[in-house]
Amino acid sequence: MVTAYLSLGSNIGDTKRNLQEAVKMLDASPSIEVTKVSSIYETDPVGFTDQQVFLNIVAEVKTELSAESLLDEAQRIEQSLGRERKIHWGPRTIDLDILLYHSDNIQSDRLTVPHPYMRERSFVLVPLNEIAAEAVHPASEKSVRELLNHTGSEGVRLWKETVHQHKESFLAL
Ligand code: ATP
Ligand code: MG
Ligand code: MG
Repeated sequence: MVTAYLSLGSNIGDTKRNLQEAVKMLDASPSIEVTKVSSIYETDPVGFTDQQVFLNIVAEVKTELSAESLLDEAQRIEQSLGRERKIHWGPRTIDLDILLYHSDNIQSDRLTVPHPYMRERSFVLVPLNEIAAEAVHPASEKSVRELLNHTGSEGVRLWKETVHQHKESFLAL
């Protein structure tokens, strides 16, 4: 059993519901348990900026799956929530990215872990810091708190002032 952290983002349709549905589907997967969910953050788009604001969260999962199989599951959930890939970094109903998987460094055709851009993305580091400030980024050996202190939190706001502590309260929002 390993601990992994996933970043979830949505900026099309009922964005809060898309995040909730994705968390439910992850948790319903027989080999995955969602153990923590961050607050919801409203974040300014990065990369391709002419699009709607995003809602972003980070989820902690415990899983028996390999990193590759966890990616399969994440992509299955993206597909079933209607993800289409049109513009790189463009609008999406849901994006599920693996940030950290145990303390592994993974480099394959399909998968780079830690996620290659997580160190520069406030929309990832702010919610990750909320649930895993002491987690160590294995490539740099820095904690999430240190990475966030360096990158800052510009463009990332708590959504509707909603703070919650548990998966159950997230799903009830
Ligand atoms: P970004 O990776 O910059 O966040 P994106 O999430 O919009 O961009 P996608 O279209 O969702 O990109 O995914 C493109 C490919 O990225 C996927 O097909 C997957 O194989 C690959 N990939 C590599 N590393 C990861 C990772 N850590 N988590 C999720 N996908 C990854
Ligand atoms: Mg992404
Ligand atoms: Mg992705």
